Amino acid sequence: MKEKLNDYKNWIFDWSGTLVDDLTMVLDATNHVLQVYEKPLLTRQEFKERFRLPYTGFYEEVLPGVPLDEVEDHFRAGFANSATSGVISPLLPHAEDFLEFLGTRGARMFILSSMDAQAFDGHAEELGVDHYFEACYAGVLDKREQIHAILKKHDLASENTVFLGDMTHDIETAQHGGVASVALLTGYQSREQLLAVFPDYLVHDLAQLKEMLST
Ligand SMILES: [Mg+2]
Repeated sequence: MKEKLNDYKNWIFDWSGTLVDDLTMVLDATNHVLQVYEKPLLTRQEFKERFRLPYTGFYEEVLPGVPLDEVEDHFRAGFANSATSGVISPLLPHAEDFLEFLGTRGARMFILSSMDAQAFDGHAEELGVDHYFEACYAGVLDKREQIHAILKKHDLASENTVFLGDMTHDIETAQHGGVASVALLTGYQSREQLLAVFPDYLVHDLAQLKEMLST
């Protein structure tokens, strides 16, 4: 049986769809990549249904045979274009409040994200939330391959640690690392998709999670 939510001291967050509302930019950047290879563009709904992590699998499906570094270069360009054209990716509602709340409880906080490392660094700073995190791991293709190293490096006991994310890969990463999992419905995947991988907790948003911690 998992510890109760209130007992978790170490909180590892996914970034996109968990703390930040960046779906518009990620969709723009993905469609930029597809456009380069003259593939049909994805609607928001199609993207949510088809995109998955590790994104290697997604790109093998939509752009078979294209080398990943080439895809990533085009993605970065698309992401930058989206920013230049004025699209912004704000913090999700309740994100800062939740980080502040955990901070006052003395929680240790970390980021584990597949988002391009350079894009992530600038963004967390710009949003003014980088100071909450003891360490950030971005640009991680397969989070399952990193979770044990992170637990070890920061001396995080698995029974005191929880990983929060909006995608099935996040829940599978938590399970692989032997830590508790929280699935959030603020991001890229649906309740049905997330329930299929059996998260320990499933919440609408961080406000609901804060309420669960406060009681
Ligand atoms: Mg995410």
